[in-house]
Order: sequence, then structure tokens, then C-alpha cells
Amino acid sequence: MARLVMKFGGTSVANIERIRNVARHVRREVEAGFEVAVVVSAMSGKTNELVGWVNDADKHYDPCEYDAVVASGEQVTSGLLAIVLQEMGIPARSWQGWQIPIETDGAHGAARIARIDGANLGEAFSRKEVAVIAGFQGIDPATGRLTTLGRGGSDTSAVAIAAAIKADRCDIYTDVDGVYTTDPRVVPKARRLDRIAFEEMLEMASLGAKVLQVRSVEMAMIHGVKTFVRSSFDDPANPQPGTLICDEEDIVEQQVVTGIAFSKDEAQLTLRKVADKPGVAAAIFQPLAEANVNVDMIIQVVSDDAKTTDITFTVPAAEFERARAILEGAKAEIGFSTLQASTDVVKVSAIGVGMRSHSGVAAAAFRALAEKGVNIRAITTSEIKFSVLIDAAYTELAVRTLHSLYGLDKA
Ligand code: ADP
Ligand code: ASP
Ligand code: MG
Repeated sequence: MARLVMKFGGTSVANIERIRNVARHVRREVEAGFEVAVVVSAMSGKTNELVGWVNDADKHYDPCEYDAVVASGEQVTSGLLAIVLQEMGIPARSWQGWQIPIETDGAHGAARIARIDGANLGEAFSRKEVAVIAGFQGIDPATGRLTTLGRGGSDTSAVAIAAAIKADRCDIYTDVDGVYTTDPRVVPKARRLDRIAFEEMLEMASLGAKVLQVRSVEMAMIHGVKTFVRSSFDDPANPQPGTLICDEEDIVEQQVVTGIAFSKDEAQLTLRKVADKPGVAAAIFQPLAEANVNVDMIIQVVSDDAKTTDITFTVPAAEFERARAILEGAKAEIGFSTLQASTDVVKVSAIGVGMRSHSGVAAAAFRALAEKGVNIRAITTSEIKFSVLIDAAYTELAVRTLHSLYGLDKA
């Protein structure tokens, strides 16, 4: 029998009425003859509240207990959806990560799925039950402790389960009706895409489009899971297909640029008057690497006096204070005059597999942004994307400018 995974995010299960609406979508697929596994997130806002409580309890919390607390939001919604389905006459049973089990490594707060045993779910299907699975959580078999998969991790739970049970499809239901050329809440002219290539979706997600968690896209790509992003707010009796994440070859009309993403989760650090001699870059970046700080964009200015230079780079906002402390601590070894820092920056990126075969794509953006008076602080490029770091105040202007420049605005 054909199998289906349906995942519902936080806004889709925000209250009991919405959970009833989710149940109607599930009923439609059960009636169409699918064996259905449903993955649910916590009610919207719940995980933030739980994270807040953990931080209030102790800023230097035990990550293992962080997981014990934040995984609870999904436990609630899985039980509630099972109750609502049963009330509609559809046999259903909730499953926590440890009951399946979804085995992960021991990286609490950002665990990776290692293995999923599909046997229990297979038995649930043979009992004609819908399996309602708490997303975002797993178990580390080495310790028997509960783990969570990082923010937005229910997407990854869904795709991983789809791969494990060899589902025909994984439908990610959310509060927008698909993947757009950029965040439709920021750019009203954003266009919904019928299809987007795995590699492009991977870049969009890693560069800030939170519609899918990065790991879920990786997982779909590796295991060839047919994944759709669609809306839970569609009429359950008449749903739209949404956006298919697929192989590049399956896209007929390929644009040069497919989408624009942006991330405010960036911080910029500049070291002034660093000695311009061999070994300095190592002195700066080695201690950061050892502390697992992810350095992203790096710019080193060529000095005019051949004695000192300035080095600018970015780190994730969450790692900013740690990075600053490490650099101040290594000031004597590095030898710089001042450390300047800014968290008021945003990284705006353009993504498209068409960039491989077109030149001048980034240059056009630099010109267009300059014409709008947007100053670029740093640039990075790779095969299918480029990114610029700018002042956060210009986010919308820059995103809209690039969106129009590459012909992405809807008619
Ligand atoms: P869920 O709670 O269902 O997991 P998320 O809030 O994680 O939903 O992701 C959906 C949100 O992603 C949308 O509301 C939208 O604002 C945002 N988003 C950002 N970039 C995009 C994009 N390119 N296409 C669609 N949505 C996007
Ligand atoms: N509830 C978790 C979060 O808010 C997981 C998810 O929604 O995917 O990050
Ligand atoms: Mg999400």
C-alpha cells in the first residue's frame, strides 16, 4: 500500500480548531487509501517559551535537560492530534521519538538522526492506525537520553521518517502555499515556485529561508524523497499541490537566479591594524576554529604601507560574544589595535543553478545596490550563489532591488 508522510508546522497546530483542520487533511489522505504517518511541531510560540524558561532557570544550562524541556511541546500536539483523529472515527496513536525509535547522535540541541527503525510504524499501519509522531525529537541510544534536532527540526523528522518507511511522498504543510522566490512576508511581489532544485533549496535554507530546515533538504536529496511544501490553510477538500523539491533535470524553465534569501543572524568583526605578515590569519582563525565558532565571510584589505592591514569577517550572531572574547583574549598573539563589532548587519544572497553558466550575475547586483545607495561591507560567491553583507536597515530595499533585478517579481 502507498505510504505518505504529512508534516504540520507550529502555526498549523496553533490551537484545537487548527488541529481539527489538520485532521481533515489527514482524513482525506486516509480515505484516498494511503498509510499515513503524521509529524507535528509544537504549537506556534511554544518552543520559544520553553527555551525562554530554560534560559531563565540558568544561562549555563545542561544541554541534556534543555532537550528534556523543549521536546515537550511536540509531545502535547502529537497527543492532541491523535485524540482529534480518534474522535473523527480514524484510528490513530501518538509516538514520541524514543518510542519509534528515532536514534540520533548525542549532540544535544542540534542532534543528527543516525537511524530510524521503521518496524513499529509498519505494525501500526497493519493495524490500520495513523501514526502521529512528535517531530523535532529523538533518542541517543548511547545514553538513553532524549535529544532534539535543532530549531525547525520537525522538517527533518518528517523527511527522515519518509525515507525510513519508503513513503511515496513527504508533504510539508506550513503557513504559506509553497516555496517562493523570496520570503513572501517581506516581498509581496514574491512568486510561488512550482518546482525548485534540491541544491537551490539547500542554499536558500542555509542562507536564511527558514521554510525548510537545511538538514531536511539534505536528507531529501540524499534519499531521493519526493518532498512538497504546501499550505495547511488550503481547503482540506480542495488542496493545492504546492512546491516540489526535485532534481535539477526535472525543471524545464530554468532561470539564472531562482531566489533571494536573507539572514539577520550575522555579526561582523573587524580587526584594525593587524600586522601584515605570514601567520597572522592563522593566529586569528585557529583559536576561533578550536572553539567551534563558524567563520563565514572574510575580507583582508591589502595594506598600502606593507606593515598593517584590516581584517573583517562574519560569525553567526549567536556566536558573536564568544568570538569577541576569544579575540580579545588572543590580542597579544595576534597584535591588532582595535576590535570593531557590529550585529546590525544582514546577509542577502541570490541563488540559482543558472549562475554556473552565466557570468556577470553578481556584478549586476553590485551596480543595482550602489544605485540605491546600499553600501556593501563584504561579498562571497560560489558556484550557484553570491552573498553581500549590508546594514540591516537596508534589508528590504536590497532584497526587493535584487528580486526585481533578476526578473522574479510576479506580474
Ligand atoms: P512551520 O512552523 O510550518 O515550520 P516556518 O515558520 O518554519 O513554518 O516556515 C514558514 C515561513 O518561512 C513562512 O511563513 C515564510 O515567512 C518563511 N519563508 C522564508 N523564506 C521563504 C521562501 N522563500 N518561501 C516561502 N516561505 C519562506
Ligand atoms: N518546535 C520546534 C521549533 O520551533 C521544531 C519545529 O517547529 O520544527 O524549532
Ligand atoms: Mg519550520
